[in-house]
Amino acid sequence: MTPFAFHIANDRAEALALAADGARFVGGGTNLVDLLRQNVDSASQLVDVSRLTSDIQEADGGALLIGASMKNSALAAQPLIRERYPMLSRALLAGASAQIRNMATVGGNIMQRTRCAYFYDVDGARCNKRQPGGGCDAIGGFNRYHAILGASNNCVATHPSDMCVALAALSAVVHLAGPAGERTVPLAEFHALPGASPQIESVLQPGEMITAVELPPATPAMVNSEYRKLRDRSSYAFALVSVAAGLDVVEGKVAEVRIALGGVAAKPWRATHAEAALRGLPATRANFLSAAEEELAEARPLEGNAFKIGLAQRTIAAVLESLAGDPA
Ligand SMILES: Cc1cc2nc3c(=O)[nH]c(=O)nc-3n(C[C@H](O)[C@H](O)[C@H](O)COP(=O)(O)OP(=O)(O)OC[C@H]3O[C@@H](n4cnc5c(N)ncnc54)[C@H](O)[C@@H]3O)c2cc1C
Ligand code: SF4
Repeated sequence: MTPFAFHIANDRAEALALAADGARFVGGGTNLVDLLRQNVDSASQLVDVSRLTSDIQEADGGALLIGASMKNSALAAQPLIRERYPMLSRALLAGASAQIRNMATVGGNIMQRTRCAYFYDVDGARCNKRQPGGGCDAIGGFNRYHAILGASNNCVATHPSDMCVALAALSAVVHLAGPAGERTVPLAEFHALPGASPQIESVLQPGEMITAVELPPATPAMVNSEYRKLRDRSSYAFALVSVAAGLDVVEGKVAEVRIALGGVAAKPWRATHAEAALRGLPATRANFLSAAEEELAEARPLEGNAFKIGLAQRTIAAVLESLAGDPA
């Protein structure tokens, strides 16, 4: 690891001024410090933003504004989150270990880098994300964990965050501040698909920081919601496939449905095709499964991960079935 200067920001203006001088933000450091230690990434200055806004504010209509420096464990334990957005609390608790969740921040979780093993192998592997134009050893390599949706010939990595899958299903909005002022971006549009530029992973601009995440007022399908994560072992592993879903059934028919997938793409994958297919239909297992099949119709598996297609379809159907209670 190359030496770096470390600043602690006491407020947003100080953090942004330091970033304008080239400093990189650090929240809990649970991802960035690993990347620096393994020489996957580099920085000459870090600015610690973990002392900035870390509370939850509720607006008049019921929307919640979560400070970007709130710790993952604190957010998961918040009664407001557990009662109104249970899929988010469960997604947070499905991620990493208790020690890491105690350090990891909301902003850092959103910005964490892929867990593609070739990306971390700086001495032995080709990786377009690390070195644009260098090649990709995951394509044709060990790609059990890689993408089946939205990938390109340049990169097949997945986004590793559990929290972001729930945020996508909840239509969360990311609040940003930077040299050009403040702006908001829907979480579902925040992360980028790889295309020809896999090194560009989000819409965040140089010097710009995440200040908060906004959750819309809770709807019935947000309250009746779940996060289910399938992985190779029961703890401390990234998702093969995960499903964040919420469902509201009125008189036997789907009135509101929200579905997002993790472990399948370079971004949390909002299952818009399945949602559209289900609205107004009877809440039956057969309809849940055929909507899931419609969503996965555009999947393009690699040699090692075709199993993810069926796994995702069955998991979507199973989660919706459990949320429906007792479908026909
Ligand atoms: C062993 C292990 C297992 C894990 N398992 C899982 C898992 O199963 N599921 C899962 O979801 N995650 C998992 N993680 C990842 C973990 O959730 C992330 O490391 C963590 O969320 C990152 O948060 P942080 O605050 O520590 O980020 P940092 O490491 O501090 O920063 C990460 C990135 O975010 C940027 N950043 C930080 N704050 C801001 C901000 N406010 N604005 C803009 N940019 C910012 C940093 O510059 C850096 O690029 C695991 C990690 C480890 C080490
Ligand atoms: S899949 Fe993406 S991150 Fe992994 S080696 Fe290929 S280019 Fe790099």
